[in-house]
Amino acid sequence: MPFGDGAQLRDVYRRMKREGYAFIASNVAEPNVLLGLLEGAEASRADLLVQISYGAMGFAGAGDAWAGLRALSSYLRAVSECYSIGIFLNLDHQQEKHLDLVERAIAARIPSSIMIDASHEPFERNVAITRKVVEMAHPRGILVEGELGIIKGAEEDVVSDEAFYTDPDDAVEFVERTGVDLLAISIGTEHGVSKGRTLTLRLDLARRVNEALREAGYDIPLVIHGSSGLSTEQLRELIRCGVCKINRDTFYQYLYTCTAYDFYRQRHESIVPPEGVRFDPETFESSNDWTPDKKAFDPRAVGKEIQRAVKEALMRFNEEIGSAGRSLFASGSGSGSGSSPS
Ligand SMILES: [Zn+2]
Repeated sequence: MPFGDGAQLRDVYRRMKREGYAFIASNVAEPNVLLGLLEGAEASRADLLVQISYGAMGFAGAGDAWAGLRALSSYLRAVSECYSIGIFLNLDHQQEKHLDLVERAIAARIPSSIMIDASHEPFERNVAITRKVVEMAHPRGILVEGELGIIKGAEEDVVSDEAFYTDPDDAVEFVERTGVDLLAISIGTEHGVSKGRTLTLRLDLARRVNEALREAGYDIPLVIHGSSGLSTEQLRELIRCGVCKINRDTFYQYLYTCTAYDFYRQRHESIVPPEGVRFDPETFESSNDWTPDKKAFDPRAVGKEIQRAVKEALMRFNEEIGSAGRSLFASGSGSGSGSSPS
């Protein structure tokens, strides 16, 4: 289906929350991972949430983040038309210093949702910055995700580990005052303000935050950042506690590199000249001594392998977390025929 807007994304999240499944929100910076994700989501008949960080925008835009965002999102919009599933774009971990870019992206109606990260700021500043983005995004129908890190009232130099977990009462106040549509919480994963600390994973906290929000009338999806290292059972437990979005970035980076490394290692002789033969750009396709094999060095050859690896990984994730077969948009799915993560 054509690229999905915020209202359609809201429908997906509502059903996820009701029926207990989630997005693996996957970061992209270039076409190979993106195409692998599209293929994987379509093959598992699951809707897809793609994320672009500020760094990825700069990478794709030769250092110009705004150019990079327009380029990547136009590419995504165009290729989305080749697929039947719902495809959505989230701007990942945007910061206050780049709000001008966020504003332009909203005005151009580029993303389906925006994640504003002010979790390193004290509570009141976090509320103010996040509220500002909500006020910019909501009139255009774009959803906003906020993040709560250090607990309210904690000083910069606090040392207690307790301070790095999201407090349920803070969460209610934060959602009430900002109007966010999704909330990323800190439960002890290696991420954000707790990065570098060895914290105990507190799955129970997700349940407590979810219950506190529901009791206050805010039954919004929760988000987990830094999901590397969580087991399938832990992910399923988090989904039962109201988590509908699980971020994944580093995993794809490693998968990309490993796949490329294996591909070239297995084809070493087809790419690297034998001992004593010098690579000469002028004669390399006509030399009698040795010619490299185009089937090995064409970047599309390794690209196809990377796309296949990403496709298979996403299909596996979608099975694990119960999203397979549950696209709201692909015909023949979306009727609850997928497996439930229980
Ligand atoms: Zn985060």
